[in-house]
Amino acid sequence: MKWKKLLTFRWILLGLGLVALLGLTGLNVYSLYALHENTLKSSMEKPRNQLLEVSNETRNIIMNSLRDRFRQNIPLIEKAIQENGDMPESFYNLVKAAYEEPVFIDIYFSDSECEACDGNGSLQKFNPETSRMEWTNQIPDEVKDGIGMSRTRMRVLVQDYQYSTRVFFDTHRSLTIAFVNTETKQVVGYLLMTLNREYIIQEILEPMLLTTFGEEANNSVVVWLHDWTRNQVLASSHPEIPYQRRAEDFIQSFPEMLNNWNMKAAFMESPLVAAANASLIRNLTALGVAVFLLIGALVFMFITAQKERELALRQAGFLANVTHELKTPLAVMQAAGENLADGRVKKEERLRAYGKHIFDESMRLRRMIEKLLDVAKSDAGQLTLKPVMCDLAELTRKYLDEQRDYIEEKGFTIDFTSADDLSPVMIDPESYETMLSNLVENAIKYSFDEKYLGIRVFKQGKKVIVDVEDRGIGIPQSDQKNIFEKFYRVEDPNTATTKGHGLGLSIVKDLANHNGGDIRMKSSYRKGSTFSLHFPIFFEALKTRNGETKPIENRVEHVV
Ligand code: ADP
Repeated sequence: MKWKKLLTFRWILLGLGLVALLGLTGLNVYSLYALHENTLKSSMEKPRNQLLEVSNETRNIIMNSLRDRFRQNIPLIEKAIQENGDMPESFYNLVKAAYEEPVFIDIYFSDSECEACDGNGSLQKFNPETSRMEWTNQIPDEVKDGIGMSRTRMRVLVQDYQYSTRVFFDTHRSLTIAFVNTETKQVVGYLLMTLNREYIIQEILEPMLLTTFGEEANNSVVVWLHDWTRNQVLASSHPEIPYQRRAEDFIQSFPEMLNNWNMKAAFMESPLVAAANASLIRNLTALGVAVFLLIGALVFMFITAQKERELALRQAGFLANVTHELKTPLAVMQAAGENLADGRVKKEERLRAYGKHIFDESMRLRRMIEKLLDVAKSDAGQLTLKPVMCDLAELTRKYLDEQRDYIEEKGFTIDFTSADDLSPVMIDPESYETMLSNLVENAIKYSFDEKYLGIRVFKQGKKVIVDVEDRGIGIPQSDQKNIFEKFYRVEDPNTATTKGHGLGLSIVKDLANHNGGDIRMKSSYRKGSTFSLHFPIFFEALKTRNGETKPIENRVEHVV
C-alpha cells in the first residue's frame, strides 16, 4: 500500500516536472519570438517614415509654385469673368509662377459653368508669349475631365466650404484650383494645370527613391513606384530587381494626389534581420538542447528510481523466498534425522530411504547456498577464476555423463551434438559447469509438455557456441530484456509453483562475461527457448596488437 502511494506520488511529481518544464519552454520560445518580431518591426520603422516623407515631399514640390493661390482677389476675378475683362495682376502672377515650374505643361482657366467641358464653347489658355490668357477651342480631354471632376466635387462641397481656393488632382493628369466666393457660396472659376507625368516620375520620384533607398542608402529596402491601374512599374530604387507582388511588405500612397500610383516596399535581408534570425535559431537550438537534456535527466532519474524500487521489491521477495527454501530442506532433514536417532526406523529399506532423503535435501541446500555465494562473490568482485584451455565438447559430454540419469529420470530426451572442428577456448571449467547446469536446470524447470533438451556445441566464425534448447513454456517478449537481471522472475501462472529465485541467469551472464564470453537468448512464448553461450576461440583471444596470430602450440605451452 505504502509502495503504491509512493509510486503514484512519483508519477505525479514526474508529470508536474514535465508540465513545468514544457510550460517554461513554451514561455521562452514565445519571448524569443516576440523579441525577434520586435527587432524586425523596429528595423521596418525607419523605411516606413522615409516613404511617408517621399510622399509629402512630392506634394510639396508640386504645390510649391502655387502659394500665391491664397492671395487672390476673388471678387475681382469674378468681375473680370462677368465683364469679359482682363484678370487681376495677382492672378497672372500665380499663372506665370506655375508655368515656370516644369511639373506643369499647360494652364487653362474656365468660369464656373465650363460649357467647354460639356462639348462646345471655349476656354482660356495661358499663352507664354503674350503672358496672357487667350480663348481657345482646342481643349484636350484631360482638361475637360479635370475641370468636370472638380466641378462635380465642388457642387457637393461649396455650401459648407470656408476657404477661397480648393485644389483637386485628377490622378497624375492634372491639378485644378477652384476659386470660391466665400460670401455668396459660389464657385467663381477653375484654373487647371496639366501635369508633366514624365517629369514627376523621372526628375522627382526616381531620384528621391534612389537617394533614399538605393544602393548607397544601404537600408535594405527595395521600393517600386507602381501604377496599379496598369500594373506597371514606373520607377524603382533598385532598377535591377524586378517587381514581385508577393514580396511587398508595405505600401505608401500619395494621399489625395497621383491616386493611381503607389510606392511598394519590400525588405531585403538586412544585416540586422540576418543577425536577428541567426540569434533566434541559435537561441532556439540552445533551448532545445537544454530542454532535451533536462527531460532526459528527469526521465533517467525516474527510470533509475523505478528500477531501484523494483530491485528492492525483488530482494524483499527473495529474502522471504530464501528463508522458506532454506527452512524446507532443513525441516525434512530434521524430521528424518529425528526418526533415525530415535531408533524407530529399523527396516533397511526404510533406513536407505531416510538416508537418501537427507542426502537429497542436503544437496539441494548446498546448491542453493553455492548459488547465493556465487552471487555474493560476483557482486563483491571476488570471483576467482582459473582459466585453462578447454574443449567445450568434452566438458559438456562429461557434464552430461554425470547428469544423464538425473535428467532422463525427469523424463527428458537428450539430444547432444558437437562439431568435429572445434577449437579450444580459454575458460574456467568450474564456471562452465555452473553455467551449463543452470541452463539445463532451467530447461528442465520450465518444460512441461514436451520434455526435450537439445545441446549443441559448434564453431561459428571466431567463436565456439554452446546452445541449450528446450521446448518448454518460453519467455514472453516483454520479459526477455529483463531475464538476466538479478532476482527477476517471469510472472506466469504455469510457473507460479516452480521453485527459483531469479538468480540463475544473472549468475550465468556474470560468469560468461568474466570468462570473456557472452550469453544470448531466443525464445518464443509457449514454444521454447534457446540460450547460447558464446566464447572466443583461444588463439583469436591471443591475437597480438598488430593483428598477427601467434602459433597456437607456443601459446598452449605458455598457458598450461
Ligand atoms: P530462477 O531461479 O527463477 O529459474 P533464473 O535467473 O534462472 O531464475 O531465471 C529467471 C527467470 O527466467 C525464471 O524465473 C523464468 O521465468 C525464466 N526462464 C529462465 N530460463 C527459462 C527457460 N528455459 N524457459 C522458460 N523460462 C525461463
